[in-house]
Amino acid sequence: MSTRWIFTVADMISFATEVRSHTKTLALVPTMGALHEGHLSLVRQAKIQCDVVVVSIFVNPTQFGPSEDFARYPRNPEKDFELLESAKVHAVLAPSVEEVFPAGFSTFVDPGQIATIWEGAQRPGHFRGVATVVLRLFNIVRPDVAFFGQKDFQQVVIIRRLVEDLNLPVRIVVCPIVREADGLARSSRNIYLSAEERKVAVLLSRSLKRAEALAQSGEADAEKLLAEMRRMLAAEPRLQIDYAAIVNPATLEPVTHALPGTVALAAARLGKLRLIDNLIFGPPGLSPEMKLQLALTAPQPDKESTAAPRPEIDSLRIKIENCRDCAAVSSIALPAREFLFKYLKRDYPNLDAIRALVIGGCAPIGPADSPYRRPEQPNPFLTRLYELLGLRDFAEFRASFALTDAARCHAVGNRVDDRTLEYCARHLREELKLFPNVRTIIILGEYAYLQFQRHVLGRERASIKAFPELLKAQGWAQELVQLPGYGEREVRVLYCYHPTFETKKSPSLAAHLSSML
Ligand code: AMP
Repeated sequence: MSTRWIFTVADMISFATEVRSHTKTLALVPTMGALHEGHLSLVRQAKIQCDVVVVSIFVNPTQFGPSEDFARYPRNPEKDFELLESAKVHAVLAPSVEEVFPAGFSTFVDPGQIATIWEGAQRPGHFRGVATVVLRLFNIVRPDVAFFGQKDFQQVVIIRRLVEDLNLPVRIVVCPIVREADGLARSSRNIYLSAEERKVAVLLSRSLKRAEALAQSGEADAEKLLAEMRRMLAAEPRLQIDYAAIVNPATLEPVTHALPGTVALAAARLGKLRLIDNLIFGPPGLSPEMKLQLALTAPQPDKESTAAPRPEIDSLRIKIENCRDCAAVSSIALPAREFLFKYLKRDYPNLDAIRALVIGGCAPIGPADSPYRRPEQPNPFLTRLYELLGLRDFAEFRASFALTDAARCHAVGNRVDDRTLEYCARHLREELKLFPNVRTIIILGEYAYLQFQRHVLGRERASIKAFPELLKAQGWAQELVQLPGYGEREVRVLYCYHPTFETKKSPSLAAHLSSML
């Protein structure tokens, strides 16, 4: 395989269209070139998760201020291409400024208040330029997954917001910061550091590490941690601090107490260069990936979540967020926290009380479609589900039932492939353990049926009755099974048509359910 070098938007669109026609998953790694190990770590992740990887190299003029270093920004196309070719990237998109911003271009994305603090305050208009070019690249390449570095933490928060706010059909993956041996975060601009400056630059990461060490030894007071960071940075007169802050990872607002997942940000000027760095607090020994998960899945300040944390829910949530196995993803817009973490804690403070679990086909594409998010807004799926179960509304549903799905992070029409079912079953099996007192499981539709039979009950494909055959006689079917992890106790499983995916309809199960709950 040789790496393709693409210069025009039109060529990129036809390349991506060709990839999609083969139902392959497409990754985009946006960069400004002058590539280093940090960029290559994103490329490697993209190669693991997707079939085809496109790296864009574009020094975006709209994210540089008038007095910034656009002209001086390091450029090294030959070396970049060599690196990407050895990394076996499928295509490199290296468009000219005129290709990306042709004459007459006038529409910009305003990311709002979050783009006006920290980096945004130092570099007015920077994130407007970033969000605009990223949206344009997304629309040209239409990737299934796009990869960004934690190195630019505020950028990550803004891009994730952009994707959620504008319902962009792309999943964002964030990769940890790659550092030099002494801790300095890798950056294209580091080549401009003199040997003397290089020694000073490392102070930024050292101050962050020091704050983390203090936090790990029990000091949670953000003011004290910040004071220590500032003291270390101020000891070097050549370093001029732009900001040092300890913030909530979702809102980037300063916090009073550092918790696992809280982020420390630091930026400073050294000669003509600006350095930025950040660190996610976490318990000693936690991997950088896990820390990122902690930060990126931290609940938004949410008045509704009053229930006590359940560690087993958190660990399952992290596993699901981390799951990149089947690569069947295309447009997950519903992070796992929406259908697990958030609802379980808020709606099911006592998981032991749940007696019945409904397993649907695949997780809703948009958060607004989740009944847990908007219980007052029934959709056709819910209306028919209530009919099937003989319930009035969501409040009644929630009193006895919990709802989950066979497939979690795929949203390609209604087709659920075998690989997705197999991999997602690992999460379903874990999830079943969260409800130790379940007596009834209601399985909706063929995909959930096949997954349950093969990957929960462990039956051979040949021994599984065809779904239409199973339901032919009365429109539903039931059996008693023993579930792994449930001991000797038998669980009744009811198989029905999916309320919206299938044209046939199962009769109301109300009479059968009332005695079971
Ligand atoms: P840039 O070329 O600086 O625009 O960076 C392109 C992408 O690489 C961005 O998502 C950056 O956050 C990411 N990146 C840059 N430096 C690093 C690093 N040291 N570790 C991980 N990711 C990085």
